[in-house]
Amino acid sequence: MIKTVNLNKTYTTEEVETTALNNVNLEIKEGEFISIMGPSGCGKSTLLNIIGLLDNPTSGEFYFMGTEISKLNERQRAQMRKGNIGFVFQSFNLIDELTVYENVELPLLYLGMGSDERKARVSAALESVQIVHRSGHFPQQLSGGQQQRVAIARAVVAGPKLILADEPTGNLDSTHGEEVMNLLTQMNEAGTTIAMVTHSPADAEYSQRVIHLFDGHIVTENFIQSHYIHSDKAEEETAVEAVVEAEAPSETEADA
Ligand code: ADP
Ligand code: MG
Repeated sequence: MIKTVNLNKTYTTEEVETTALNNVNLEIKEGEFISIMGPSGCGKSTLLNIIGLLDNPTSGEFYFMGTEISKLNERQRAQMRKGNIGFVFQSFNLIDELTVYENVELPLLYLGMGSDERKARVSAALESVQIVHRSGHFPQQLSGGQQQRVAIARAVVAGPKLILADEPTGNLDSTHGEEVMNLLTQMNEAGTTIAMVTHSPADAEYSQRVIHLFDGHIVTENFIQSHYIHSDKAEEETAVEAVVEAEAPSETEADA
């Protein structure tokens, strides 16, 4: 779904030149859930914004669903973004003047969707994050956890193929953070590809692969162990058998 080849991003201001990304080669397959980790300032958000077609690389190639993005003009890129990508940010980024319902409806208005379909889609999205009862509220009347659920509803309402989340639990306590991670997992299980920036090793555990960035380049890529076992039924059964075998003798001892 996504492929970058020697991706570079340099920010130039009057005084300094900052290399935010340095020869990043990354592939994300359809249906994957990956995490991007690394210290502050290492280029995580820059990478996510380029993947999300919000920003352009300085050099290198970027393929999104088979299309090399530098070949598209601004309008074509916006079109591609609107239909295919949903964003979730650390600070929720809801529009304060709009109700929950209107916030979630907004991406569909941009897509020019008819009102019946909009209504059905917004209702379904609000239901999927269990916030229907707050449809008429304004963002400021909600807790952080509720606001992030609305933001997730907004991200998924148009049925995107890809969700990009930049520290989605960064402003939440652990209970609400877990809720958000469970929702993202649910979206991934329904087939949506997810790339998430996180500082939290616990959050990264929800994903299948972790990409570690340092100073603008990828230093390591790890597959999460639990997903190895998860994806391999035979291995899982062997593991269960091993546990049963290990426990059996001690039970006999206890009985005796
Ligand atoms: P992270 O998300 O990992 O904290 P960022 O991708 O936001 O890091 O930033 C990477 C580097 O690029 C940092 O050194 C940051 O200061 C710099 N940077 C990011 N955005 C800009 C910008 N718009 N102008 C200049 N420098 C920027
Ligand atoms: Mg960042």
